[in-house]
Amino acid sequence: MRIRHAREWGWIFLFLLVLMGCSREELGDKVAQPEASPLVKAPGDLVEKRVLLQFQAIPMIKKENPLIKKYELADLTKKKGKITFFRGSRYSRKVALTFDDGPDRQYTLQILEILKREKVPATFFVVGTMAKKNPDVLKMIDQSGDVIGNHTYSHPELTRIDVKAVNQQVDETNTIIKQIIGKEPLLFRPPYGAINKQEEQMIGQKGFKIILWSVDTRDWAHRTPQQIFDEVKKDTKPGAIILQHCAGNSGLRATVEALPHIIEYLRNEGYQFVTVDQLLMIPAYKR
Ligand code: ZN
Repeated sequence: MRIRHAREWGWIFLFLLVLMGCSREELGDKVAQPEASPLVKAPGDLVEKRVLLQFQAIPMIKKENPLIKKYELADLTKKKGKITFFRGSRYSRKVALTFDDGPDRQYTLQILEILKREKVPATFFVVGTMAKKNPDVLKMIDQSGDVIGNHTYSHPELTRIDVKAVNQQVDETNTIIKQIIGKEPLLFRPPYGAINKQEEQMIGQKGFKIILWSVDTRDWAHRTPQQIFDEVKKDTKPGAIILQHCAGNSGLRATVEALPHIIEYLRNEGYQFVTVDQLLMIPAYKR
């Protein structure tokens, strides 16, 4: 009896050895071949294809899909108590473009023109001093159907000032925005994304949601339009919040130049453009 068992185990062992040999050979083929084959350039391509397949597995939102809508709603409801958001639900193929530091009279106007032409809504996190300087541009943003959020009064790094000063930065900006467009924002973005727990709680208690981002184009750092586009292509996933700027320095020429290409690419990938409040299903302004 014991001998029979031993013989059976021997066969199983041999069978496993053969199997391992085969799979190693297969693996070897897949990894070694790419260099020889022009069709698969590198193992990295395989990874990219897998990611693409995952994307394709999520149905494109051409029509309303009740099942996806249900998943999205459940996902966002789960996050309802949160103050800070980096992205929306990964169950829906939606994306939010955001533009910080405006409104100015140069890049903001050019960006608005492109968004209008492409019928794409966006969210603008504006600085109080800039809104005060260019109230007509702020009005244009609002009248275009885009959403306005609070990005402090003078763009300080909040972690370096005291809570009282943070409070002032937030309130003063909301007052200016309300004077110009008649609505008070409930979306807030801290400059440089810098915020501590105490400030987060304080701003949350005022009724704000703090909006950070999942895709950073780093467009303020004098990048080329291609670099900005590549960043979006590399990092955008369903529910993404994309960070760009509409005022600051001359490097933003690249932001303007890249924008139509970004819109075209995301559209071809089946994304729907929404404002941040729509993405997170939260109110944009006080009622
Ligand atoms: Zn900023």
